[in-house]
Amino acid sequence: MSAVFDLTCDLIRRRSVTPDDAGCLPLIAGRLAACGFVATHLRYGEVDNLWVTHGSAGPTLMLLGHTDVVPSGPESSWRSPPFEPTIRDGRLYGRGAADMKGSVAAMVVALEQFVAEYPDHPGRVGLLLTSDEEGPTNLDGVRRVVEHFRATGEQIDWCVVGEPSSKERLGDLIRVGRRGSLSGTLTIRGVQGHVAYPEKALNPIHAFAPALTELAAECWDEGNGDFPPTSFQVSNLNSGTGATNVIPGELQALINFRYCTASTADDLRARTEAVLARHGLDYTLDWNLSGAPFLTPPGGVLRDTVVAVCRELCGIEPEQSTGGGTSDGRFIAPMGVEVVELGPVNATIHKVDECVDVDDLERLPTLYRAVCERLLG
Ligand SMILES: [Zn+2]
Repeated sequence: MSAVFDLTCDLIRRRSVTPDDAGCLPLIAGRLAACGFVATHLRYGEVDNLWVTHGSAGPTLMLLGHTDVVPSGPESSWRSPPFEPTIRDGRLYGRGAADMKGSVAAMVVALEQFVAEYPDHPGRVGLLLTSDEEGPTNLDGVRRVVEHFRATGEQIDWCVVGEPSSKERLGDLIRVGRRGSLSGTLTIRGVQGHVAYPEKALNPIHAFAPALTELAAECWDEGNGDFPPTSFQVSNLNSGTGATNVIPGELQALINFRYCTASTADDLRARTEAVLARHGLDYTLDWNLSGAPFLTPPGGVLRDTVVAVCRELCGIEPEQSTGGGTSDGRFIAPMGVEVVELGPVNATIHKVDECVDVDDLERLPTLYRAVCERLLG
């Protein structure tokens, strides 16, 4: 089969469930070293990260991906074993086929082809891979690499993320930004007591209810041309002792904002706390900002290039979206980098029987190579 197909299969066979890399990164580092790339291995805690570059001064194009995958779940639920690449009906099945070992293999092959054809290209092309994208915290992956980049004065101009962005056909959607995610753990304190003596207790459920109604109804912003309005959700709400005759002493809620560039995290925090204070609640609220929103605005070189590549090579006008969850692009964008995400169809990611269309996989290196050629060829 082809180079991209073989490498994808080789990667799928490695059980690289976060944070175990299972040898994916050394394999890739070896291949790219053989065609002149310089590798920097960055290990933080249990996490391996790899940064390989070709070229010296000038604008830098980074391709960004991850070699870790989510667990397969019960292997018996899969039609074929999740870590044994299998073809059926023109699709390649296996954990990570779409998210995102196919893209990683395509990026490697694209880079090999690009430097073979343009050994003295201007600027610099690089590949950044982590084995901690799918984990719960992402503390030691790209977040840490970016701290290293800032400390060493690393400059990046453009970043293409290989996350599976396409909806139904390869190239029908690219991501040009992402919403931010701001979470909070809210504790409301009351006074526990007997339900028959409410005057001697303070029910935190009753105390919180009107504040929750207000928070849920609040219009946080109207969104803007690039993003839908900010949304507030309560994802967990817990209180009570399990007994019918006890007023609980405490209530806990987990809240989350998916927010757009029309709001700031500081503003959302302040407005939330103002509502709680207005209702006279005795509370603590611990905030966790897991990613600020970012946007690569229209008219940028990279965004225009990726749109043109989809239009010309996939024969499709890509939707330019800021929807979906977060990605490691959120760590790169604040360095002042244009970030665009382009990858295969995402219909089966994180599911049983994850797969990638073999024709799409075969075309993917051409797309990444075309971006390299148009920016640095
Ligand atoms: Zn992914």
